[in-house]
Formats: sequence, structure tokens, C-alpha cells
Amino acid sequence: MHDSEKADVIIVGGGPAGLSAALILGRCRRRVVVYDSGEPRNARSERLSGFLSRDGSAPLELRRIARAQLAPYESVSLRDGEVVEAACHDDGFEVVARDGTRARCRKLILATGVVDALPEIPGIDAFYGSSVWHCPYCDGFEHRDQAIAVLGSGKAAEQQALTLTNWTRDLVICSNGPAGLTAHQRRRLAGSGVAVNEDPIVGLEGEDGRLRGIRFASGGTLARQGAFFPPAERQRCDLAVKLGCRLTAKGVIDTGSYEKTGVPGLFVAGDASRLVHLAIVAAAQGAMAAYAANTELSKEDLAGRAKVRPRRLR
Ligand SMILES: Cc1cc2nc3c(=O)[nH]c(=O)nc-3n(C[C@H](O)[C@H](O)[C@H](O)COP(=O)(O)OP(=O)(O)OC[C@H]3O[C@@H](n4cnc5c(N)ncnc54)[C@H](O)[C@@H]3O)c2cc1C
Repeated sequence: MHDSEKADVIIVGGGPAGLSAALILGRCRRRVVVYDSGEPRNARSERLSGFLSRDGSAPLELRRIARAQLAPYESVSLRDGEVVEAACHDDGFEVVARDGTRARCRKLILATGVVDALPEIPGIDAFYGSSVWHCPYCDGFEHRDQAIAVLGSGKAAEQQALTLTNWTRDLVICSNGPAGLTAHQRRRLAGSGVAVNEDPIVGLEGEDGRLRGIRFASGGTLARQGAFFPPAERQRCDLAVKLGCRLTAKGVIDTGSYEKTGVPGLFVAGDASRLVHLAIVAAAQGAMAAYAANTELSKEDLAGRAKVRPRRLR
């Protein structure tokens, strides 16, 4: 597609949500431009689990296959680059990429994902994605029955620990200071066999990303094979909020059916707008947004054609 042409749909974000939306729209013969800044949420992970037919594959493999399968759809173009601004006009949207190029579209799908905040524990980054994770649904099964720590405090740590009892019963909450648990929460944890250690953490032990233990200020080390922390994410980019979308109390963009937002013509799909953060769910939401965008475009196209007075037959 030429830069001066107006796209039917611009998709910002080329993860499972954005690429899935592009596939559906390409099949609808819509002119689509996908921008991607190349920062997949699960880039640090070793495997993509729970995605039907891709269970256990390398995380970036899904994107590679998806991009390759978009190639035959000539109306879809993929652009590597970050969108830094977006504006809403009477007849659609305009986006500006970091390199200064601009593009216009009738509908806009934001599939920009979220970023994870790691607990403030010295050295945690070296283990993140290999033996420290946030999502039991993604990484619990491979580490079932292992000695696992929950790194966190308060209700979030309690919930994460109780959820994890499904995968292992060898669980210790390491709260790195006061655990912030009520007597009731402590009883519930004890009833499920979850221990609580409130010693400040001075470091994690292990090599090649494999956790072996947690070192405490008191001098002791707790042997652990893996650790989960309660999820704490923020939006990867603020385009949706700048365009007038509302964030829910849980920090995701408030969307209704078909990933529609309160801004006409704007859809937000994937992790950015939902709480079940699985790649297959993001892909499904991308498809839903695409379906809804195409439906709106078709209605507008039909209404436009109805306005054109039919030529009289001689
Ligand atoms: C460590 C880890 C392990 C995980 N393991 C699994 C697992 O095993 N199974 C599973 O189902 N899920 C897993 N997940 C969750 C999974 O990664 C997400 O649910 C999924 O990636 C969401 O897809 P998305 O398209 O919404 O967002 P993302 O995959 O994050 O893609 C968003 C894309 O948008 C781009 N982008 C953002 N802002 C802009 C902008 N302004 N301009 C251009 N591009 C932009 C980013 O660069 C990125 O490529 C894991 C997550 C983590 C952190």
C-alpha cells in the first residue's frame, strides 16, 4: 500500500492479537497496515504453552509463522516501527511513527500488550522467564511438584500461592519483609500447607537462569527450583488512553463486546484490554476486533453506495 493511501484499518502491535486481526482483515480484502515495535511480552520465556497446536513451541515461532502466513495477503503490509502518536479525526484516525512517517485509516485496532513489573529482588532479572515466572497457567505444569517460592506479599501473594497449590504442595511465600497478611489469610495458607518466610531477601542463587535457592539477610538459604510472583503489569503504550479510552481499576483498557472502546472506530485487543493473559485468548480477541471492524466498514461502504444515485437505463 502506498503511504498516501488511506488504509481501511491500521493495527498497532504485531503480537498474537494484532497478527490475528491482520489475518482476518486480509481475508476480508481490507487494506491493512500493521506496525510493530518488536517487543513481545513473552520474549524472555523459553516456551509457549497452552496454545492449541503450538503447545511447547518457541515463543517467537508463533509470530514467525503468523507473519509468513500473512505474506500471500497482498492488501496487508507489515511495518517494523513504533507508533508514537495517534489522533482521531471525523473520518478516521492518523498515526505517526517514530521515524516521522504518518498514515491514515478508517478504523484503528490497538494490540499493544502490556509490560511486566518484576519484584524488587536483587538479581531476579537473570532468572526471569527461565525459572521465575508470573503465570501458573503458562509455566506451572512443567514445574509441577517442585519446590516453589512465591515472591510477594499481601493478598496478591496469598492468591498466587493458593492458586499454585493446584501444581505443587511445596510452597513458601517469601515476602522480603513483612508479609502483610491477616490472621485469616495466614490460617488459610497454613491450611493449604503454604509456609511464609518474612526474612528480607538479599539475592537469588543458581546458574544459567536456573534457580537453586533464595538467600536471606539472616544468613540462611531456602532451596527452591522455581518462583512465581503475583502479576503486576502496566500498558506497554499510552495511545489508547491518549485517544480517550478508560483504564479499569485493574489497569486494562475498558472494552465492550467485540473489543470496541468508547471511541467510535477504535478497538483494543489482547493483553492490553483483557485479564486472561494467554496468547490464544489474545489471538481470539484480535479476530473479534477484526470481525467488528470489517462489519462497521461494510456498513459504511453499503451506506456510501446507497447515496450514489443509480444511472437511468435508456
Ligand atoms: C514470561 C512470560 C511467559 C508467558 N508464557 C505464556 C505461555 O506459555 N502461554 C501463553 O499463552 N501466554 C504466555 N504469556 C502471555 C503472552 O505473552 C501474552 O498473553 C501475549 O503475548 C499477548 O499478546 P498481545 O498480542 O496482546 O501482546 P504482545 O504479545 O505483547 O504484543 C504486543 C506487540 O505490540 C507492540 N507494540 C506495543 N506498542 C507499540 C507501538 N506504540 N507501536 C508499535 N508496536 C507496538 C510490541 O512491540 C509487541 O510486539 C507469557 C508472558 C510472559 C511475560
